[in-house]
Amino acid sequence: METIYDVVIVGAGPGGSATAYYLAREGLSVLLLDKADFPRDKTCGDGLTPRALAILDDMGLLDHLVEVGCRITGMEIYGPNGQSIAAPIPASNGRPGYMLVVPRLALDNTLREHALARGAQFEPRVHVTDVKAQGDSVLVSGERSGQPVSFTGRVAVIAAGANLRLLLRLGMISETPPTMVAARAYYDDIDVLSDRVQFRFDGVPLPGYAWVFPTGQRSANIGAGYFARSKRERTRFASPQDALRSFVETSHIKDVIGRARRVSPVKGYPLRVDFTTAPTFSERVLLVGEAAGLVNPLSGEGVDYALESARVAADHLIGMVQSADFSRARFEAYDRDLREHFQALFEFCDRLRGLFFNRPALNLLIKVAAMRNDLKMLLIRIVLGDHTVPRRVAISKVIRTLLWPRRLSKPVDVR
Ligand SMILES: Cc1cc2nc3c(=O)[nH]c(=O)nc-3n(C[C@H](O)[C@H](O)[C@H](O)COP(=O)(O)OP(=O)(O)OC[C@H]3O[C@@H](n4cnc5c(N)ncnc54)[C@H](O)[C@@H]3O)c2cc1C
Repeated sequence: METIYDVVIVGAGPGGSATAYYLAREGLSVLLLDKADFPRDKTCGDGLTPRALAILDDMGLLDHLVEVGCRITGMEIYGPNGQSIAAPIPASNGRPGYMLVVPRLALDNTLREHALARGAQFEPRVHVTDVKAQGDSVLVSGERSGQPVSFTGRVAVIAAGANLRLLLRLGMISETPPTMVAARAYYDDIDVLSDRVQFRFDGVPLPGYAWVFPTGQRSANIGAGYFARSKRERTRFASPQDALRSFVETSHIKDVIGRARRVSPVKGYPLRVDFTTAPTFSERVLLVGEAAGLVNPLSGEGVDYALESARVAADHLIGMVQSADFSRARFEAYDRDLREHFQALFEFCDRLRGLFFNRPALNLLIKVAAMRNDLKMLLIRIVLGDHTVPRRVAISKVIRTLLWPRRLSKPVDVR
């Protein structure tokens, strides 16, 4: 007899596996599908912000990840002219005052195994090509090793990341939204690696940035990415890999990485940053994580939002399954909840990117922030996606800094 799962989830990245964990913990029957076999790599900077760590803690995984990851307590931001600011990562809103860098090869497998330990089932090498509501269930179909396969759930979750093909095929989106493109590689034998994460605007196409995220005392994940509103802009550089190659050749970063060895291929991938206009559901289907465009448009961080949206989705799915109510109103309630969580923050980040992701503005902001602790901490909290930042005050502070830098550049409180 055919098994009907409560929830079938497409994609076992952080969004899919965390959703599976929260559902299985409440006793729902969950099937997790992925086109890959695990452990699998995912092109990423591997940085876990305090937001991500708070959810991983809620899932009971933080202590383990602290052991396997690289713990980072400070951040540096470099302007296009190479001037920098540095500060400790603040513990705000009860979240940890540090970041972790955990290679996705390890993180994603840990999350998936955690969901399986709670009772979720997993099918690898299933490439899903269709998700169709039919009466009181949903059919998820695709292929494994060239053979057609299908699975039935009462509801489905698409957590397939930036892979747009499925959403285009389902008609949930009609064209490729504006995206970021980024590439990363792992480096070893770095001579003068700082013990802070670095966000860098020197030597990268703007609007864009590069990062140096230490993975150990002398090793790092180094990457670069840029925002592309149109296909033309996406091809401004031959590829994000080229943007990274040219970034590691710039004089500033050469001083940091010296004669470091690249120990992995340079890999690139797109990032969906369009949550403010993205759909989040269709009939009997919810979107989670990057499939809903949930990557911070300023920092390119998406693991945190994938995990947070997974918890929000799980709450709604548990309610739907327990009440056997899969009406449109239930799905609209999920959309409303996601918008309440993220819409204002993402609109704010979009606006800031428009205002200051250009060479003169960034140089000026970093110059003034180097003298003013309040502006410096504000920038660092914004980069970390701290939703408690007073947004109106922040926008006005940034605008006033750009308009009247002298008036605002008196040194104040530099504790
Ligand atoms: C270069 C780069 C650097 C980044 N750096 C960071 C960083 O430092 N920190 C951070 O927080 N975020 C970073 N991000 C963003 C982050 O990687 C993503 O936002 C995050 O992985 C999203 O999680 P997810 O679970 O939504 O999707 P994903 O992690 O992309 O997982 C999707 C899963 O779905 C599977 N899948 C896709 N299509 C199908 C299909 N049709 N059938 C079956 N399975 C399918 C895939 O195999 C994959 O396992 C970076 C992204 C890039 C490209």
